[in-house]
Amino acid sequence: MPKIIIIGGGIAGLAAAVHLKAGAKSHNKTVDVLLLEKNGRIGGKILTEKIGKYLVEGGPDSFLPEKVWSVNLAKHLGLEPEMLPSNDQFKGTFIFSGNKLHSLPEGVMLMVPTSFWPMAKSHLITWPGKLRMGMDVFMPKRRSLEDESLASFVTRRLGRECLEKIAEPLVAGIHTSNPDNMSVLATFPRFVQMEQKSGSLIMGMLAAMKNRPHATLSGPPAKPGQPKMTYFMSFKNGMQTLSQACVDHIGKESIRMNASVKAVEPRGKGYAVTLESGETLEADHVMIASAAYEAANMVKGFDETLAAQMNKIEWSSSSTVSVVFRKNDVRVPLRGFGFIVPRVEGRRVNAATYSSIKWSYRAPDDTVMIRVFVGGGHHEELVTELDDAGMVKMVLEELDSILGIKANAQFSKVYRWYKGMPKYTVGHLDRISLLDRTLTSHPGLHLIGCSYKGIGIGDCVHEAQIAAEKILKS
Ligand SMILES: Cc1cc2nc3c(=O)[nH]c(=O)nc-3n(C[C@H](O)[C@H](O)[C@H](O)COP(=O)(O)OP(=O)(O)OC[C@H]3O[C@@H](n4cnc5c(N)ncnc54)[C@H](O)[C@@H]3O)c2cc1C
Repeated sequence: MPKIIIIGGGIAGLAAAVHLKAGAKSHNKTVDVLLLEKNGRIGGKILTEKIGKYLVEGGPDSFLPEKVWSVNLAKHLGLEPEMLPSNDQFKGTFIFSGNKLHSLPEGVMLMVPTSFWPMAKSHLITWPGKLRMGMDVFMPKRRSLEDESLASFVTRRLGRECLEKIAEPLVAGIHTSNPDNMSVLATFPRFVQMEQKSGSLIMGMLAAMKNRPHATLSGPPAKPGQPKMTYFMSFKNGMQTLSQACVDHIGKESIRMNASVKAVEPRGKGYAVTLESGETLEADHVMIASAAYEAANMVKGFDETLAAQMNKIEWSSSSTVSVVFRKNDVRVPLRGFGFIVPRVEGRRVNAATYSSIKWSYRAPDDTVMIRVFVGGGHHEELVTELDDAGMVKMVLEELDSILGIKANAQFSKVYRWYKGMPKYTVGHLDRISLLDRTLTSHPGLHLIGCSYKGIGIGDCVHEAQIAAEKILKS
């Protein structure tokens, strides 16, 4: 019976363990799985807290059903009745520009305009900026297939104003990094394919929309017993429902918490895993599901080159700050699901989600919960410089200045994610291919998690399942 040690109890490690246990049955195998987590809590970045009357998300607040792997995992764990669609009757994205909130014009898909009139009527982009975006249809496609920064790609196709007012704040919100050095191939490969295939992003997006299957996420009503699917989905009791269900499925006997791994090294045909406590465990396969820089520390003793390649991945730090106001005190309209702030506006916050408007079950009806993002692409230093009180004060000042909310918060909670998000910078895919090639000389060692092939929960689940399947087939 092969023994498999998984290091790290974030969604990647958990999904790998679930897949190994479930997959073993279909492969007619038995496996011995042990998951080691350094903290006294499972879930990694997935962190939901029920504090008094409020349900607060410290890390991710949703998953994208478009990435089917997280939905399939949730279904496998019996979580369908727990799935929560967003309140799409209120949906909409606003961009703070020139001291005003502008609605993202209808038809803008990520950063690509697909409808003429909403764009023409919008005051977000100037007329020269709109014409420049339209030029995308006539611009020749790039001949070179080499990676380039997202900033260079968007400026080349849609112009500088689209980059600064739409693309930068949208992607800074997702990737908490800066488009000036973000790899377009690693983060938006679909756009590169559109340019190559259709010669234009606008034409490519229109074609993709035409060919989209009719059963879209917001399409037909859900069948009885099935949750309605919206673009973003969560769980009634928050994202931690998913990690907790993984724990229940894997079984507590297969998980050790407060077990920090110090080193991994080859031993015989497998590996020896040494904990900080000095204890050593042996396994046929080791799946390292921690951040790449933590994994690098574990392997540097036996393969310095591998460790150096992992350490090339850069990281950004960010913070989420949830504040709750009494509804009567918020004397301004809160439109859409929230707003994003372009870097050129020079503010101290990146974005805000109106959590209790976007999701049900987050805060009592007579209150409003707003979750504000700090750091990442803009003013990363604030994550370390401000203490919790300073962070909340700054967020309230910004909400006053941007929205006009003058009220005091009834509740606040700050979460910090130091080196919490990998930056997929230009050349990321080449670095990952090199890493994959180096790993071929260490059979039985597997790297999974957000550092490598996708930061979203769906991608982490998918990569974990691929690695687990490889083990089951070996
Ligand atoms: C603020 C924020 C908001 C986000 N929002 C979304 C969102 O809405 N939707 C979405 O899809 N994605 C979102 N993401 C991204 C997504 O949450 C993460 O990419 C994903 O959860 C990472 O999972 P992981 O398993 O790779 O890593 P992690 O969750 O970081 O788990 C790694 C685990 O390894 C453990 N570990 C580390 N070192 C050791 C060691 N030496 N020994 C043992 N264990 C160790 C850690 O303690 C941790 O539990 C967000 C991320 C952040 C930070």
